[in-house]
Amino acid sequence: MGGKKKPRTRFICWNCGQAVPLKFSGQACPNCGAPLTPAAYDARAHELAKQRAQVERELNRLQAQLDSATKKNTRWGIFKNFRFLPSRRAMDELLLQIQPLKQQIEDFSRKGRFASERYYVSEWFRQSRRFLREDILDAREKSNNPFKMPYYDQSGVFHMAPDRGNAWKRGEYGEYVVFSLLSDAIDAGLLGHARLLWHLYVPVRQRLVMRRVATVESTDEIDIALLTTHGLYSIEVKSLYSSIEVRLDNCKDAYCVTATPVGQDGQILTNGITIDMGVAQNTAHVRALRTELDGLVAPQRIFNVTTYANQCGFEMHAPQGFRYAYVTTTSDCPENIVEVICRIEQKVAACWTNAEVDVLAERLAISYTDSDGSKRANHAKALSTARHSVADSPKPHKKRAHKLKTKAQPKYQSRKSQFIDEDVRDYLNGDYDD
Ligand SMILES: [Zn+2]
Repeated sequence: MGGKKKPRTRFICWNCGQAVPLKFSGQACPNCGAPLTPAAYDARAHELAKQRAQVERELNRLQAQLDSATKKNTRWGIFKNFRFLPSRRAMDELLLQIQPLKQQIEDFSRKGRFASERYYVSEWFRQSRRFLREDILDAREKSNNPFKMPYYDQSGVFHMAPDRGNAWKRGEYGEYVVFSLLSDAIDAGLLGHARLLWHLYVPVRQRLVMRRVATVESTDEIDIALLTTHGLYSIEVKSLYSSIEVRLDNCKDAYCVTATPVGQDGQILTNGITIDMGVAQNTAHVRALRTELDGLVAPQRIFNVTTYANQCGFEMHAPQGFRYAYVTTTSDCPENIVEVICRIEQKVAACWTNAEVDVLAERLAISYTDSDGSKRANHAKALSTARHSVADSPKPHKKRAHKLKTKAQPKYQSRKSQFIDEDVRDYLNGDYDD
């Protein structure tokens, strides 16, 4: 290839093949109106895989006929290439039919290369702004990327190959897996009207008695927040690549989670067993969230969910919901995070309308995911251009946001400012339509 690669600013619409600016991720194609969502790309990939399998079956049938015709033809020895021989004519006809089928299969594999586009239309990308490695210019940013590459397999199922090079990458990949599981569950209608938020920075306040004011001592990072009409889930993600066992510790009146590391070839490494503190960490996050949202969200509506992003084994030897906490996994079993949340939703009555879920999600996004204030500015701009009455919109928590602003999150800020830089560059390059 060679030459400097430009950062990605557009993706291809699955329906019309047009290059669409990234800002249409999750919306309708501005050219043809098709939905630019993961579900739509998956449906297209599935359909292509089905068609391809049909063509392959037909190709195999013709190939078998060609083989037998060739066998017959070789019996003619030195006369085998005479056109008047029936076996020779059959071979020529079959070759004529086989050629376009081979071309069709090649076309299918080219059309199937929409895995990157499927990534860029995901809610995860819209919130994390984490670009795929192939679309990143900065060398350090590239090497810090937790994804190897996305791909569709032969049956049209989407996969993301991870780069588990270090603990940080493993952690972020785990968050991606959990976020995507929940996002797909929402798209499939399993959780009713729901919203997801990635990385909430919730201030942990301590009262200074002398000055009688609450000050922000530090911020707690909540990996993923899920809002449904039934409540707010604070989700702590642990990416351990260990076999997990959950029991009740009767002395400490809490869950006890043991993590047994699993080696590369799947063997259990019993000399590295640790007690994981994920549930206790999330209990602290939930406490901070309850204080912060006092008067807005009832404390019993904030659920404590810890999830182990692993496929190495998960054994639950305790009831779920002990002291309002839940311990879950991403693997396929009754303790899968989506299944556990669905069970909670069935047990607990709804407390919010769909509109209230949206208002609360906006409030949380503006107050706790907006460390540099850019979202608040965009929100205000959008409101004024739409000529909405300010009284109708949720008011941002100015004081809190200001305090958060002074408490910079280096990781988050560099990610955000990099994206703004890219936006400006795209604009200068004329890559955006507006
Ligand atoms: Zn289109």
